[in-house]
Formats: sequence, structure tokens, C-alpha cells
Amino acid sequence: MLDCKMCGETIYTTYICSKCNRIKDMMNLYSRDVVLDAVETIFIRNEKQRNFKIKNKLNEEIKTIGCVKDTKKI
Ligand SMILES: [Zn+2]
Repeated sequence: MLDCKMCGETIYTTYICSKCNRIKDMMNLYSRDVVLDAVETIFIRNEKQRNFKIKNKLNEEIKTIGCVKDTKKI
């Protein structure tokens, strides 16, 4: 009994579980760098994306608590 070297799932016969093996297959098919680039592009936000998210979140909170109306009245 082993733990998958990628995700830690308990496995019995190989070093990589079936789900992580799908990722390995994709790396064999497309290359490691292509798969890594896709994962980073999809799941990791760059600074511009983070700032956009923060700005949107702040605007949502401002609308929720009504700060915009209050500051305009002052
Ligand atoms: Zn795994």
C-alpha cells in the first residue's frame, strides 16, 4: 500500500493513482510545460487579475453597506 506521489491518495500497485495518471498522460501527450502553463493560466491569478478581483469585491461590499450613497451626501 502506497500513497500517490502527486495527491496522496492511497494506492496499491503504482506510484501514481489513476486520476493523477491522467495528468501524466496529458503531459506525455502535450508536454509538461504545456500542461503546467494551462494549469497556471486557469488556476493562478496574475497581479492585474488579483487587483480586478479586489476592486470588484470592494465595490460589492460598498453597494451592500451603502457607503456610496452616504459619501455622496456628505
Ligand atoms: Zn494521485
